[in-house]
Amino acid sequence: MQSLSRPSSILARSAKIFQSGRQISAKPRADGPAPPPINQLSEEENSIVDTVRRFAQNVIKPLVREMDDKSQMHQSVITGAFENGLMGVEIAEKYGGTGSSFFDAVLVIEELAKIDPSVSVFVDVQNTLVAPLIIQLGTEEQKQKYLPKIVSESIGSFALSEVSSGSDAFALKTTAKKDGDDFIINGSKMWITNAGHAQFFLVFANAEPAKGYKGITCFLVDRSQEGVQVGKKEDKLGIRASSTCSIHFDNVRVHKSAILGEYGKDVLS
Ligand SMILES: Cc1cc2nc3c(=O)[nH]c(=O)nc-3n(C[C@H](O)[C@H](O)[C@H](O)COP(=O)(O)OP(=O)(O)OC[C@H]3O[C@@H](n4cnc5c(N)ncnc54)[C@H](O)[C@@H]3O)c2cc1C
Repeated sequence: MQSLSRPSSILARSAKIFQSGRQISAKPRADGPAPPPINQLSEEENSIVDTVRRFAQNVIKPLVREMDDKSQMHQSVITGAFENGLMGVEIAEKYGGTGSSFFDAVLVIEELAKIDPSVSVFVDVQNTLVAPLIIQLGTEEQKQKYLPKIVSESIGSFALSEVSSGSDAFALKTTAKKDGDDFIINGSKMWITNAGHAQFFLVFANAEPAKGYKGITCFLVDRSQEGVQVGKKEDKLGIRASSTCSIHFDNVRVHKSAILGEYGKDVLS
């Protein structure tokens, strides 16, 4: 098997895409050349796709059936995803990442999905929900605590849904009661992707239920905190290797510095 490159060498190449202006979100300059069509990948993007394809073919593909049967992600897939720099694609170099683009993350997710949608979902949640929210809304202290680990070893989950609030997310019942400089979180989340493996959670709780949805605040909660319990894994019909679990918060005390974004200004809006 061709050896897999390290994160810095794989996705560092794509960082050049930023410099060359290939990033699709970049506005074309009025006096500059038109951006290439979206279906025409640059050399660097093709290189990312090739690398992910090799990882998917060589490491994931032989394990797809076993992982599905056992409803369990194989450790070599998890380790490989980190070693190949797939778990924090957009994270900046100063936090140990390569500062690649959202488009690169999409290419990674798409390529993985061709072989195993479970692995694709596993990588997707980390790259499109967990990391971006910390990048965009985190304090410097939060970024330093979480981003280097997201790139190298830690999995995060996005814990919003509850038994009676799926589509209607604003109806969530989990509370975060203020107690001095702390908040005490109580409630349960349902169907949370990657919760089986996660070391930390982005937890949505209402800090001021009297204000309705305007009280919803997001907290960064570590799995090791007292009162956090990850429940049973769902026995799903599809994407079985991706863990989907409930999480229970029983008087979980967090400091106000664990708020992601502004208090009372929920990150959903
Ligand atoms: C595999 C899997 C992974 C998941 N991962 C996560 C995760 O990581 N984090 C997380 O927070 N949640 C997660 N979820 C939960 C997911 O976000 C919810 O299942 C989803 O929001 C739908 O909510 P619900 O299941 O309660 O369905 P409901 O909200 O009960 O909706 C049922 C049906 O009614 C329709 N419907 C709902 N409201 C209306 C309306 N007002 N008008 C018309 N139609 C309507 C819906 O479109 C749907 O077809 C996951 C779910 C699954 C299955």
